[in-house]
Amino acid sequence: MKLTKFILGAAAIVLGAGVMQAESKVVAHRGYWDTPGSAQNSIRALVKADSIGCWGSEFDVWCTPDGELVVDHDGYLNGYGVESTPSRIFTAQTIKNGEHIPTLREYLEAAKDLKIMLVCEVKPHTNLQNEKYAITQILKMAKELGLEDRMVYITFSKPGFIQLAKEAPKGTSVQYLTGDYIPEQIEFMGGTGTDYHYSVFKKYPEWIKKCHDLGLTVNAWTVNKPADLQWCIDNDVDFITTNDPELLIKMLKENKGKKKK
Ligand code: MG
Repeated sequence: MKLTKFILGAAAIVLGAGVMQAESKVVAHRGYWDTPGSAQNSIRALVKADSIGCWGSEFDVWCTPDGELVVDHDGYLNGYGVESTPSRIFTAQTIKNGEHIPTLREYLEAAKDLKIMLVCEVKPHTNLQNEKYAITQILKMAKELGLEDRMVYITFSKPGFIQLAKEAPKGTSVQYLTGDYIPEQIEFMGGTGTDYHYSVFKKYPEWIKKCHDLGLTVNAWTVNKPADLQWCIDNDVDFITTNDPELLIKMLKENKGKKKK
């Protein structure tokens, strides 16, 4: 009891003094795929990212013409385009580690047994009606599977971003990817954060503080080189999306305690 009071008291002092900056969180880009038996956007990559202690795992979602949600990046495999191929054909295609292309339901069902945050990228569709439908269905599925609190939404699609900001449950993280909006515009549109290529933040480093002042989060993609990862750590980027999550976890451990605000 005494110890608890002491810890709470110490935390309050530190927070009150405003000197505690949260450590950057590790997001595995398309899961942890650069490891034996894994592949981008595979269920294995999601499980691997969870197993090494990543905060989150990013993945890409498309909608097939018959309304199935699938997890894939390119939207094109073995001559089949996701927006023009029936789901039974598209999801029968195998990816590099031998898994078939997962449906979103299969992917989220697997996630239920894990702890990792689910950074869901809604791909910009040629067919805007399908994209709108996809977002409605994703939100519905997350609710049905009890995963609403673990979902983070990101997108390059402006209409998709506005829809997500409007329809995702209150408190859900909704971040815009393209990098062409100033922080004030993201706030105005109801988003909770920027998720920009790290070069955007290097060009406009003041946007990081501006985001934080507005209560927005900062996510940077896709950061792989040690010097760039270190830049993000040193500049208070909240989420770092990387193809090398093990390296970033190691660097964060080494940095712990060294950082002075
Ligand atoms: Mg993506």
